[in-house]
Amino acid sequence: MTIENKPDSLEDLFAHNRAWSSRMERDRPGFFTSLVKQQTPKYMWIGCSDSRVPANQITGLEPGEVFVHRNVANIVVHSDLNALSAIQFAVERLKVQHIMVVGHYGCSGVQAALEGARIGIADNWLRHIQDVRDRHHVMLDSLPEAARANALCELNVAEQVVNVAVSTVMQDAWSRNQSVTIHGWAFGVHDGLIQDLELTVDGTKPMENQYRAAVQRIRYKWSKPADTGTSEYIK
Ligand SMILES: [Zn+2]
Repeated sequence: MTIENKPDSLEDLFAHNRAWSSRMERDRPGFFTSLVKQQTPKYMWIGCSDSRVPANQITGLEPGEVFVHRNVANIVVHSDLNALSAIQFAVERLKVQHIMVVGHYGCSGVQAALEGARIGIADNWLRHIQDVRDRHHVMLDSLPEAARANALCELNVAEQVVNVAVSTVMQDAWSRNQSVTIHGWAFGVHDGLIQDLELTVDGTKPMENQYRAAVQRIRYKWSKPADTGTSEYIK
């Protein structure tokens, strides 16, 4: 579907859905029948609810190939039964091999948290990102102002990777030697590309040093002036 051809009514959505279903069945007979039997995704995606960050399209994955959990600003709170249930289902039932926590530049949730803007009930949710902001305030204050939202987006990913890793679900999985690796990524709405923040945790070694190194890389990356061409600020 092209931008020019985008649907503007609910009827269009149903029409597009019927066309997609027929096209899939025509091109790959039995596609839906095999989907009904089981889903065997290797990947779990924990991302932002932002409509510009659709897990499947970005990664070229098809139905059945990625298990997705999304919320505002890709946060994994220790006591969030929704996120924890999704992670447990993915790890224990589906046996995913990789969990990617994916932030995105230009995230309104991160921006609101950075500015302390009042939105409403979401303020209480975004308070978790403000905690990240406050934890790293010395670094953030040292960065050029225009780079702070990008840096906070990446810092938030790093913190949420840690939150997934310390969850009982992951600790239990690793204690029984299940192979599951957590990755921290950031997606650029402006160029459609995923950046690997290289905070990759697989439970085989303490992650403290990896976390610290990732935070240092973020500081270094965003402390460079924008005009060097090496770290253009992303709006
Ligand atoms: Zn977002």
